[in-house]
Amino acid sequence: MAMNILKQLTEGLTTYSEDETLAAAQAFAEVFPVDHTLALEGDLGAGKTTFIKGMAQAWGIEGPILSPTYNLYFTYQGTKRNLVHLDAYRLQTGQDPEDLLIEDFLDPPWCLAIEWPEHIPKLLTPKTWNMKLKGNGDKSRVLQLQMPKKTGIKLE
Ligand code: ADP
Ligand code: MG
Repeated sequence: MAMNILKQLTEGLTTYSEDETLAAAQAFAEVFPVDHTLALEGDLGAGKTTFIKGMAQAWGIEGPILSPTYNLYFTYQGTKRNLVHLDAYRLQTGQDPEDLLIEDFLDPPWCLAIEWPEHIPKLLTPKTWNMKLKGNGDKSRVLQLQMPKKTGIKLE
């Protein structure tokens, strides 16, 4: 299962319920390298926050993951990993990421999860992983992962 989730997600994984997306995110969280950024692209309601909730569960983060639209970002301390959850929806494209002071909160082992990454392109680096979520009917969603070129991770 562990590495297989990366293969499934890079090939494009369809989920048919919120729970299936949570489960996929939990499996992904186990193999996602520490101290890395995950950019989640997709329309409103596609499941970006849901996916981040699943990862948070896997990392021993207690309590609800709130949608940080008005607060820009929230930080969570987990037993396995620390999560910074940024929702860039309200940022002006071209905003200097340094102004956000996010780096001060990247406490190893960290994950920075970004919704609406296209609003903060300067925060994205060649090491950033990318997940695209597409709404597709009532409950089905297609999750498509793009890994950076040089991860050293083999899918099989
Ligand atoms: P976003 O952060 O992309 O705006 P959310 O994760 O906040 O989206 O919301 C996704 C909504 O879609 C939730 O209400 C969730 O219950 C619903 N939903 C239905 N089917 C799925 C699915 N397969 N995966 C994820 N969410 C789903
Ligand atoms: Mg959201």
